[in-house]
Formats: sequence, C-alpha cells, structure tokens
Amino acid sequence: MNHNNNKISKVVIAGGGTAGWIAAAALSKKLGELLDITLVESEQIGTVGVGEATIPPLRTFHQLLGIDEQAFMRATQATAKLGIAFENWGKQGDRYVHSFGKMGTSAWMCDFHHFWLHGREMGFDSEIGDFCLELQVAEEGKFATSEKSPLNFAYHLDAGKYAKFLREFSERHGVTRLEGKILEVQRNNETGSIDSLLLEDGREIAGDLFIDCTGFRGLLIAEALDTGYEDWSQWLPCDRAVPVQTRATGPALPYTRSIAHEAGWQWRIPLQSRVGNGLVYSSHYLSDEDAMEKLLSNIEGETITEPRVIRYQTGRRRQAWRHNCIALGLAGGFVEPLESTSIHLIVTGITRLMQLFPFGGISPSLVDEYNQQTRDELEKVRDFIVLHYHVTGRDDSEFWRHCKSMQIPDSLAHRIHLFRERAHAYQDGGELFRVDSWVQVMLGQGLVPEGYHPLPRLMNREEMRKFQQGIRSGISRVVSALPQHQEFIERYCMADEREVSP
Ligand SMILES: Cc1cc2nc3c(=O)[nH]c(=O)nc-3n(C[C@H](O)[C@H](O)[C@H](O)COP(=O)(O)OP(=O)(O)OC[C@H]3O[C@@H](n4cnc5c(N)ncnc54)[C@H](O)[C@@H]3O)c2cc1C
Repeated sequence: MNHNNNKISKVVIAGGGTAGWIAAAALSKKLGELLDITLVESEQIGTVGVGEATIPPLRTFHQLLGIDEQAFMRATQATAKLGIAFENWGKQGDRYVHSFGKMGTSAWMCDFHHFWLHGREMGFDSEIGDFCLELQVAEEGKFATSEKSPLNFAYHLDAGKYAKFLREFSERHGVTRLEGKILEVQRNNETGSIDSLLLEDGREIAGDLFIDCTGFRGLLIAEALDTGYEDWSQWLPCDRAVPVQTRATGPALPYTRSIAHEAGWQWRIPLQSRVGNGLVYSSHYLSDEDAMEKLLSNIEGETITEPRVIRYQTGRRRQAWRHNCIALGLAGGFVEPLESTSIHLIVTGITRLMQLFPFGGISPSLVDEYNQQTRDELEKVRDFIVLHYHVTGRDDSEFWRHCKSMQIPDSLAHRIHLFRERAHAYQDGGELFRVDSWVQVMLGQGLVPEGYHPLPRLMNREEMRKFQQGIRSGISRVVSALPQHQEFIERYCMADEREVSP
C-alpha cells in the first residue's frame, strides 16, 4: 500500500442506491469542507428497489445530519415501525412481536425476564410482552412521537423516495452527481489501488478514495479488486426474494409483519398509501414459479408493480476495505432482510469510515481496524438472524427440518446454551441487538429456560404482584393516551403527493 504519505481529499462514490446516497449525505454534511465528493450512478442500471423497513438507530443518524423528521417522513411516505410481528415461526399458528422496547424494569444483577419467569412460576399468568410499552402500543395500532416521547421506534419508508431525498440533501451539501455507466475500474500498476473509473462515454473519474456502492455485483471491491466472499448460506439458506407492491387497503400498522411459510417467509411493510410485500425463500426448497404464486395468493389489495425475482447469496466480503476502496451496502455483503439490518449497516459503515478517515493516508492498521470492526458487527447480526431459523418447533417441511438440525456458529450455540440453562442473555460491546431483542426472540421462538437468576426469589408473592402491576398500569396509562397510528400520520407527515407509483 503506497498511500501512506498521500493526502486523501477526493472521494468517489460508485452507485446511487440507498448505500451511495447515505454515504454521500453523511460525508458531505460532516466532512464536506474537507473533501471533494463525486457520486456516479446509472439510471439505466437502476437500484435494487427494496429495503423499506428500518431500525431505530436511523433516527440518531438523521439527527446527526440535522434532517427534519416531518420533512423526511413526508418525502418518503414513511410510517412508524415499533417492531416486527413474527407469525408461524416458532410453530404454525404462533405469533410473537420483537419490539424495539425495553421489557419491564431490570436490576443490575439480572434483567427483567428473570423476574417474569419467577412470576410465572408463582402462578402469575402473563406474557413478557405485557411489560413492554412499544409492544403494547403496536398491538393497539397506536403511535405518536414528540420531543419527550418515550417510544423507541423506526420507520417504514419508500426506498426510491429515500434515495431521492438523500440525493437532494447531498447535492445541497456540495456532492457532484454524475450520470453514467462505469465501464472499467482502472488500477495503479504499482500499488494495485484504484486510480479512476472509466465511464461508458469516455469520461474518467479519478479519486483518492473510492466507496463501492454498486450493489450485489461489487464492481470495485469484487470485480476489480477480487476481494473474496465468505458464504453464509449453510446457516442462512434463503437465497431469493420476490417483491411486489400493493395499494393499501386500510390503516397502516405501526409494525412490520414477517410471516413464515414452508420454505422461508413473507414480509409486509405498510407505507402511507401502499404496502411493500415480498416472499423470501430458499431456491433449494421452492421454485420461482411456486414462490410467485404463493406471494400473489397471500397479498391484499391491487398490485402496482410487477413481481420479479432477486437472487442473492448471504455472506460478507472478506475485506470491507481493500487498498483505497471501501464497500458499503450490498456491495459489502448481505445478511438477509429478516431484521431490517442492511440500511443500518450502511450507516455504521460510513460512520466508522468517518471516525477512521484516512486524511493523512491509508495505513494497514486503519484498514485492519475497519475490517475487524465490520466483521465483528456483521457476525453478531448474522447470529441473531440464524437464531430465528434454528430455534423452532417447526418440522413440517424439509426446509424447517434442515434449519432445526443444521450446525450453527459456535458463538450462537453458546448464547442459546446460556439462555436455555440460566435464562442469561447479553449484549456484547459494539453489538447492535440488545438483551431485550435476544430475549424476545429466544422466548418467541419457543426456547424455554430451565433456570433463572435467584434474585427474584427474594420477592414474596405480594411484592411480585405489586411490582408487575405497577409496570403494567404505567404502560396502559401511556397507551390509552396515544392516538391511532393512522391518525398520527395524517396529522404529522402525510405526503402531499398521494400517488402510489413505485
Ligand atoms: C429482498 C430484499 C429485501 C430487503 N429489505 C430490507 C429492509 O427491509 N431493510 C433494510 O435495511 N434493508 C433491506 N434490504 C437491503 C437494502 O435493499 C439495501 O441494503 C439497500 O437498498 C442498499 O442497496 P445498495 O445501495 O447497496 O445497492 P443498489 O440499490 O443495488 O444500488 C446500486 C447502485 O449502483 C449503481 N451501479 C451499479 N453498477 C453500475 C455501473 N456499472 N455504473 C454506474 N452505476 C452502477 C446502480 O445504478 C445503483 O445506483 C433488502 C434487500 C433485499 C435483496
């Protein structure tokens, strides 16, 4: 690597999907005075066009960029998301919600679910979700936000409109957008780094640092730099998805629905005027034709787009940063959309780059640090997703029998073992999913702990009753004061433009 003494000031972003424009927005707003930023995209190639459910840290990112929430929600026809309802996952007919909320009140020695488990043993009949505000708000179809709102939430948004919104934002902050198809990635013979991108019309875009946001292909990181791919399909067998959009038939729910079927699952993402639907499946167990038919027979409302098959391979690039190229978004890898983590990983990827930005030149230690952090983060997300497939009572199809019996990563096996034995769940340093998430999904998938922490045993029956009652009545007070989600959307951020075209 021969960049050590080179100043990095010209950044070229290849690709203008959600990844490209998130990178452009963040870099231009926060480092725009130090950098010259160009983004190249091709309308002819287009974007993947999916990715419409998000998770709460996106709000922090928007705040950091000074994005006005109402303007953003109006522009992207966004609705609120309080979690995901998982149907038919633990077994057919089952349903649980993984909400963004906190369960009850924890003690420093052990989390709330230990108290809940002890309460159950004492004969108190309740679900863990009865102690979570966000979950109860979601179940009632309610929502509101304000400066003092106690709700932890995210958004459902229109992916195309979000890219457009971020493009306007980025161009306002000085990003130069070039329309054109990248024909060739030109590398330096001596260093192996990328010197420039050659466009189809002959223009040459030179840069010091390149961010590959070209989608699954990874035009720079994979095709030019030949960075290997770590395949995770032995743990995440779904490899295709068919998305289709439908016109909304009723009020938007404040949560995503994830409905398992015999060879994967189906999503329903409610926006202001339309619903994003899609069937995720393993091509080993379900044909494209059957997937299409299954999807179309399980949607509500008139379809407004043509369903099309998207193929993918779950996994990650072995190096997210190689030479002077950093891969973001689908170019860097794909876990799978079950917990809506991809947009979040784009945000953390660009944030990490800004924290480690190689102003003084690229050094191996910077690159190693970036790659190590990216790998750790992704592997933990992967484990959380694999949990949903592996811990299940379903054995009604070959797909589920495979998922149930497959070998899982040691890191996940350890977590499952700890929870089964002692109800112990934890969030590692830098890990995205909190204890509340692990607990909701492990219990929701049917993992029953054999023991729990003894601390709650210090409570007598009456103390436990009062403790639980206090939490539940606090929650119901807040829930009853909230408006319906639809009512909130209409008042707060209904798009002027009600058209539902893709
Ligand atoms: C089925 C499915 C469902 C998903 N659901 C979610 C979800 O609910 N939540 C979530 O967070 N994420 C989700 N994702 C992931 C999410 O869609 C992506 O992370 C996000 O859209 C970012 O995509 P991207 O920008 O990396 O790639 P793309 O959208 O594919 O953009 C690639 C860009 O590169 C450009 N490009 C490519 N080649 C060239 C070339 N030769 N010359 C010039 N330009 C070029 C294209 O024109 C385009 O602008 C989902 C993904 C899939 C597959």
